[in-house]
Amino acid sequence: MQSQTLHFKARVDTALADPTLKIAIGRTTGTAEHKRAAALADYPQFKDARDLGKRIKDHVIANLDHYLLEFERNAIASGATVHWASTASDASRIVVDLCRQAGARRVTRVKSMLGEEIGLPHALDDAGIERVETDLAEHIVQLGGDTPSHIVWPSMHRTREQVSEMFHKSHRAPHREETIEAMVDSARRELRDKFLSADVAISGANFLVTDTGATCTVTNEGNAELTTTPPRVHIVTAGIEKLVPSTKHAFVLLRLLVRSATGGDITQYTTFHCGPKQAGDRDGPEEFHIVLVDNGRSRMLKEGLKEMLRCIRCGACMNHCVVFRQVGGHAYGGVYPGPMGAVLTPVFDGLKETRDLAHACTMNGKCREVCPVDIPLPTLLRGWRDRSWREGLEPVSVRGGMGIFAFVASRPWLFHLGSAMAVRVMRLFKRGGHLRGMPLMGAWTRYRDFPAPAKRTFMEMYRDTNPGQHKEQK
Ligand code: SF4
Repeated sequence: MQSQTLHFKARVDTALADPTLKIAIGRTTGTAEHKRAAALADYPQFKDARDLGKRIKDHVIANLDHYLLEFERNAIASGATVHWASTASDASRIVVDLCRQAGARRVTRVKSMLGEEIGLPHALDDAGIERVETDLAEHIVQLGGDTPSHIVWPSMHRTREQVSEMFHKSHRAPHREETIEAMVDSARRELRDKFLSADVAISGANFLVTDTGATCTVTNEGNAELTTTPPRVHIVTAGIEKLVPSTKHAFVLLRLLVRSATGGDITQYTTFHCGPKQAGDRDGPEEFHIVLVDNGRSRMLKEGLKEMLRCIRCGACMNHCVVFRQVGGHAYGGVYPGPMGAVLTPVFDGLKETRDLAHACTMNGKCREVCPVDIPLPTLLRGWRDRSWREGLEPVSVRGGMGIFAFVASRPWLFHLGSAMAVRVMRLFKRGGHLRGMPLMGAWTRYRDFPAPAKRTFMEMYRDTNPGQHKEQK
């Protein structure tokens, strides 16, 4: 795991210098890309579903106050207790207090990025409550003392070989065969009695269903169901943007989510939790709490980021991002990596500390193209760049450099002169078709090839083929 206190560029350098990480990222994102493409090829209605999903989210976001109150009313009617948290620390404090009131010594957790966002793992550890991560990938993250590096595959940064070694060191009865199946069995043996002996279960929610007051959780391992059924208390933490009007709307978004995330048609397990155990129920929690978390979301509505509240956390934007595929998730330094993380992290951690993230983008638009709810991620990132400029957060060197560029670029004769000179200088450093060891270009050429300029520039060729048409502007 990379230190979150390092500067973004230092984290990127560390990631780029790690060949194992590169293999791990390539395996996961490559598989995800192919599976998504295959799933969409089998689902010709995807475009219509995408339009509908976008409209559902936009409608809820435009009427958030109404849906929140309606959801609260229906959740209370089903027997749930609803808590409101304005900030991350409010949310984690509420959860820890509920665990203490329940006398909890051990809690089981279902993977939830919102839980990471509010710092819940640390808050539980600090409170001396044993925390058991039950999602297989989160179990690996916990054993490694890491943070998730992907929102769908949190342990993407680990290779199978590293995981095997970890299990051998920490599991009570580790696998003897080096196969995936044997390793999964090892985790199952390790976690089984912890599932059954937990005092409190904590989960997130993929959707909050307004008209029933239910929460919906999807997993592929069944750990959510095993986590939330035996303990006496179940706590759900969810961002306020997770609301949908009804179950049928949840299923529209679910079809988009699963195909975009894992390339499946549907998740193996889709569970709706609606209140605590009722008279006659054989199992289920006696107490059911829902913590609704704002943590900057209302501010996003006001600050030109409302489209980001459509996000259903599928991870497709990062799987297809050329930057993420080079550096992985930890380099972004926040809870959410990739393009969606670069938009969200400044909301949570402040633009001053995170302004580099908006620049970690080539603006190729692939993230928006694959986003199942059509979030204009490049536009939102440009918005952060613009704001960083307006607030004077860019370093003097960048401001000065851009000033010089603007001066030169707005004078065509000077621009042509400058480019002609630059091309001549670059040719001096040409080695085998690429530039090597060119002064001031080290940050670029250290990790990738910079093609040498062509023998003749476009303008030279244009002048030859269009004699008399080209007129130098002064
Ligand atoms: S921004 Fe879009 S593609 Fe990225 S995680 Fe959110 S919904 Fe998925």
